[in-house]
Amino acid sequence: MDYKKELSAYFKENCLLDEPMGRHTTYRTGGPAEVYVYPKTTEDWSFVLKLAQTENIPLRIIGFGSNILVGSRGIGGITCSTKRMNQTAVKDSRITAEAGAALDKVCESAVLAGLAGMEKLSGIPGSIGGAVYMNAGAFGQETFDCLEYVEAIDFDGRPAMLLKKDLPHSYRHVEGIEDYIVLSAGFSLEKKDFAPLMEARNSVLHKRIEKQPLEFPSAGSVFKRPAGDYASRLIDEAGLRGLSIGGAKVSEKHAGFIVNFNHATPEDIKNLMDEVKRQVHQKSGIELELEQILWGEFNA
Ligand SMILES: Cc1cc2nc3c(=O)[nH]c(=O)nc-3n(C[C@H](O)[C@H](O)[C@H](O)COP(=O)(O)OP(=O)(O)OC[C@H]3O[C@@H](n4cnc5c(N)ncnc54)[C@H](O)[C@@H]3O)c2cc1C
Repeated sequence: MDYKKELSAYFKENCLLDEPMGRHTTYRTGGPAEVYVYPKTTEDWSFVLKLAQTENIPLRIIGFGSNILVGSRGIGGITCSTKRMNQTAVKDSRITAEAGAALDKVCESAVLAGLAGMEKLSGIPGSIGGAVYMNAGAFGQETFDCLEYVEAIDFDGRPAMLLKKDLPHSYRHVEGIEDYIVLSAGFSLEKKDFAPLMEARNSVLHKRIEKQPLEFPSAGSVFKRPAGDYASRLIDEAGLRGLSIGGAKVSEKHAGFIVNFNHATPEDIKNLMDEVKRQVHQKSGIELELEQILWGEFNA
């Protein structure tokens, strides 16, 4: 039996074939995933990992697709979504959350329980798994600040309990995390008064609305912050605010974002990324590094 049929038979309605990735990424554009599945239980993961390994099929994990751009020609193999794994629990000053729980919901739960340490991550539109993978952060706070442990499995299906000290991390980078699938994460927070925490959350959410082009599809900041500077400042200084290719544009509101303002193709976005990088380098000598992740094949 071919592997797509095996996955369809096992996952039934939780298995989609040739699934357009514009439906699963915040850029709202992207070619098809050959097979798109929603594993939920350890049995589901064992099944899909074993099949991928024995048949030698590439396998990827997606959370909320808020940091990924998929090329028009799509992605081969199996794409596993964590969206159906979204349980969370608050106990004393600890929170546990499954990989597909929304980071913002977890931040809200922490604040409502009077727990400090995640309030400034409010409004980041990713999942817990994606936040751990990227060490997502904002306003001086990072996911790893209050992370205690990660429950994971490797691509051979072996379970692993990773403590924070097992995962060396820095700005938007976690060493070795690509060898694992994050199933859940535990956070240890600090008991504080509820009111200032809620105020901090609201202030951050307000700043996002004020400063970010949330009215258009995007995947947040395109480039990492270069040491001692801001990518948006360099892009602005190079005169690139508003620069567009096809339906993609450097946001006029926040030059660090590329927005899909008019049915952009993935190639419009990718070509604009390359053009911004080229012109910033030409004007400032600084080589911007992509924060966003490119998947699959792009048209030339
Ligand atoms: C409007 C907007 C604002 C944003 N603001 C911020 C911000 O302030 N700070 C910030 O850091 N980011 C920001 N982002 C980017 C993005 O939300 C974060 O990078 C987020 O952590 C990505 O989570 P995700 O679930 O969407 O991951 P995805 O985009 O789905 O995946 C990203 C990477 O994580 C991997 N991954 C996802 N889940 C798992 C898992 N369970 N196990 C193993 N690997 C996994 C994927 O394979 C991929 O390599 C913003 C994005 C948008 C659209």
